[in-house]
Amino acid sequence: MRNQSGWTPAWRDVAPRDAYDIVIVGGGGHGLATAHYLAKMHGLTNVAVLEKGYIGSGNVGRNTTIIRSNYLLPGNTPFYEWSLKLWEGLEQDINYNAMVSQRGVLNLYHSDAQRDAYARRGNAMRIAGADAELLDRDAVRKMVPYLDFDNARFPVRGGLLQRRGGTVRHDAVAWGYARAADQRGVDIVQNCEVTGIRIEQGRVLGVETTRGFVAAKKVGLAAAGNSSRVAAMAGLRLPIESHVLQAFVSEGIKPLIDTVVTFGAGHFYISQSDKGGLVLGGDIDGYNSYAQRGNLGAVEHVLEEGMALMPMIGRLRVLRSWGGVMDMSMDGSPIIDRTPVAGLYLNAGWCYGGFKATPASGWCFAHTIATDEPHPFSAAYRLDRFATGRLIDEKGQGAQPNLQ
Ligand SMILES: Cc1cc2nc3c(=O)[nH]c(=O)nc-3n(C[C@H](O)[C@H](O)[C@H](O)COP(=O)(O)OP(=O)(O)OC[C@H]3O[C@@H](n4cnc5c(N)ncnc54)[C@H](O)[C@@H]3O)c2cc1C
Repeated sequence: MRNQSGWTPAWRDVAPRDAYDIVIVGGGGHGLATAHYLAKMHGLTNVAVLEKGYIGSGNVGRNTTIIRSNYLLPGNTPFYEWSLKLWEGLEQDINYNAMVSQRGVLNLYHSDAQRDAYARRGNAMRIAGADAELLDRDAVRKMVPYLDFDNARFPVRGGLLQRRGGTVRHDAVAWGYARAADQRGVDIVQNCEVTGIRIEQGRVLGVETTRGFVAAKKVGLAAAGNSSRVAAMAGLRLPIESHVLQAFVSEGIKPLIDTVVTFGAGHFYISQSDKGGLVLGGDIDGYNSYAQRGNLGAVEHVLEEGMALMPMIGRLRVLRSWGGVMDMSMDGSPIIDRTPVAGLYLNAGWCYGGFKATPASGWCFAHTIATDEPHPFSAAYRLDRFATGRLIDEKGQGAQPNLQ
């Protein structure tokens, strides 16, 4: 009613100071959440988040917004369930409408073997305090009657449902964490690319940036798809490859899908945005890339899988598609840890699933940076597991990030 006048900036637009106690490299969801929890939980506010572009330009603003905690392995279950609990209280915590929508996540199964694997996963989830329900075909049909049940190439036999899973407005998460951190005194510096990491006698001294040298007692890396490039500035070679993941939005239609559905016979998932567009995605582009755009092969793959599950979407037009650069780790699980360089910390390897992890990742990374100890919820996400062999291979597919 004010004709879009009277808005004030959500956070201060600051130039970097000469020195901070802590510098976070990367103003994505994880870097901003880390800054928020450093300030809120540890009272550390002499902190800067340095972002090479603008807030929300990375994967935090490019993902398909799904949150869930349907993990199987002990290293993962407490972490992702904690993340879901933080999502449930996020809007009150940061005083920002992030449109947290617990509309449920339904993973379909198409064979007896897959049903048994989902039963096992559901049991592990319930033991870890998460919610899980194994649905048979009739229950799935009642819930999502528009799938192809009668003539499908991969008949739907049932599904594993997590009702507390759902979606969150992705860029609002970045804006909300940025505003909350800023209000506690954190400097959020946009258009400030880190170009080098200054290290002397095995200890970090600060970072070189396109806006000059910034000294720091501690530096946390949260650069997601660019993790291996940024870590290389400190002489670290990470067990990470970068791949593009694409996503698609259709033209807006009337309400059709009131949950998140994932296909069990391929890599495809779909939900509906509040504006009415169907939001869909699938597997990564198979080749390594740092470009934020993908190729037509993956487009065809995703859309064909969607058609196999829901043939009626073939009449829709795809309105937009885009890509984001994924930091694929060799076991498909993340890293939150110190590095061999004193004062340098690493948050990376989020693969397809880092958005749902944003609150717990920030919480645990802030703990690690503040206390120099791993947080109990992220204790398994150690960098040295790739040397010791204590991998967290959720998919049981080995060191092939293009298969994770
Ligand atoms: C298409 C797509 C769909 C996805 N869907 C889901 C989903 O449904 N659910 C889910 O859980 N996850 C999903 N993900 C994964 C999730 O988005 C990421 O794992 C997560 O966002 C990564 O963490 P981030 O938010 O901190 O990353 P980003 O937002 O990418 O933040 C990293 C930041 O670091 C900055 N940076 C890099 N290098 C430098 C430098 N040298 N100096 C300064 N800054 C630098 C980048 O500009 C970037 O802003 C999806 C990803 C994509 C691309």
